Amino acid sequence: MIKTKIFFLNIFRSFSSKSGEDIPTKLRAVYVEAKAAVNHEPYTHRVNPRGVFTNYELNLRNVGVYGFDYDYTLAIYTKNLNNLVYTCAMNRMVKDLKYPKALLEITSDLSFAIRGLHYDIEHCVLLKVDAYNQIQRGTVYRGKRKLSDEEVKDIYGDFSVPDNKGKNLPQLIDLFSLPWAGLLSRIVQYFDDRKLAFDPVLLYEDVADCVQRVHASGEMYQCVMDDLPHYVHKNEGLSDYLHMLRDHGKELFIITNSPFQFINSGMTFMLGEDWRKIFKYIVVSARKPTFFQGKAAFRRYNEETNGLDYEKVTHLYPDQIYSGGNMKDFSEKAEFKSRGVLYFGDHIYTDLADPILQLGWHTAAIVPELAREIRVQNLDTYHYIIVWLETLTQLIETYQKYGDRDPLCCNVITEWIHERAKLRDNAKAMFNEQFGSMFRTHHSSTYFYRHLNRLADIYTSRLPNMSTYGPEHTFFPRRNALPHESKTSVVEIADEIVTKTESVHELSKKE
Ligand SMILES: [Mg+2]
Repeated sequence: MIKTKIFFLNIFRSFSSKSGEDIPTKLRAVYVEAKAAVNHEPYTHRVNPRGVFTNYELNLRNVGVYGFDYDYTLAIYTKNLNNLVYTCAMNRMVKDLKYPKALLEITSDLSFAIRGLHYDIEHCVLLKVDAYNQIQRGTVYRGKRKLSDEEVKDIYGDFSVPDNKGKNLPQLIDLFSLPWAGLLSRIVQYFDDRKLAFDPVLLYEDVADCVQRVHASGEMYQCVMDDLPHYVHKNEGLSDYLHMLRDHGKELFIITNSPFQFINSGMTFMLGEDWRKIFKYIVVSARKPTFFQGKAAFRRYNEETNGLDYEKVTHLYPDQIYSGGNMKDFSEKAEFKSRGVLYFGDHIYTDLADPILQLGWHTAAIVPELAREIRVQNLDTYHYIIVWLETLTQLIETYQKYGDRDPLCCNVITEWIHERAKLRDNAKAMFNEQFGSMFRTHHSSTYFYRHLNRLADIYTSRLPNMSTYGPEHTFFPRRNALPHESKTSVVEIADEIVTKTESVHELSKKE
């Protein structure tokens, strides 16, 4: 990559020194040479989809206590769970709330959206927002219909979303995001196709209510428990990782919003009957995020009655299951040998915000979508698009001055600008046709990533990925270049030097 940059510099210099050709011809020659160079650019820096990535330096020597959320953290679900939630909620919309029966005949498309989108309740649109509250162009959909830039401007004035939209612009971030987005887009499209009048706020509330009832009624829990292999991944390597922590004297706990019977069946499926011995404390039905700031009392879960005891909980005992509770009581009653806590969760607000901001814990985000996105990034096709896109952008930036002077030059620069727009769309569609990547817009990070970066010290796609690193490992963040710093990646230079020295001295980075 470094050599390529020097090569481009030479092209630009030779372009300036040739005097026999007119400028449009020279521009086209530079384009052809640059594109040929990109075609020959080898791609060697693939990223491990199972890597652990660092936002803030984290030394595991300082961590003696490991806490875990359950859903989508200890347990990873198959796509069948999204379909189940969608189907159960749509059934409730039709049977309980009397929405049109024809909605049941339309098959769900839960790959339409991605997690982390916002939903504008008033205008019934799904949209993707970046780290600076800007809407990414081409990512605003009402039902299944993409809104034009003009339609977006009619709604928002420009492409900026004010932070004070608050409850009218919820972010779809949790366990039910994709079924939720699927229900809203499907029903809105149905009404729009038939020009049926409806109240957007009532529709949103009805969908929210039905999705919530799938959860609260126990319907989803029962279906999952009845067919665990259909809904829950085995999460290979989880048992080894948790036992490794125990063997090194670490203390483990679970705080989950799910009920005990549900996590008991899932954990037994993944880890075997003895799974409870791994954890010092288990708190179920915790009602996070209220758990972290609320005052609800702990109650002991009675396994014989499958109910809650009514005696006051004055101590937390390691062999018991507790329900509800709050963080203040947990801090006072739980007895840990160490103060350093690392908490794993998938929900960046519910699981991670209070622990890192209020409690001073270290946090780790589990983002299941990450592995798939890295696999896309690792494709030769994607790499080519991105390198050519960046090169073309630099060509436009360097030679745009000629476009102002000569109509023929202007034509060339305009062609480049159109090709750049197409390349950006192609790169976006490789992740998701409508909304692209969960982590980035074209040249910025997403609203989702901004909060992931703020609220998680480290992040990874699955918990067992942590097994690669010993309990005394230190995670170091990359030194990313700021806009005013050198464009040459110091991380890349350092990586090349380390790779060269490891081969000379026969050491392996991968051990
Ligand atoms: Mg969870």
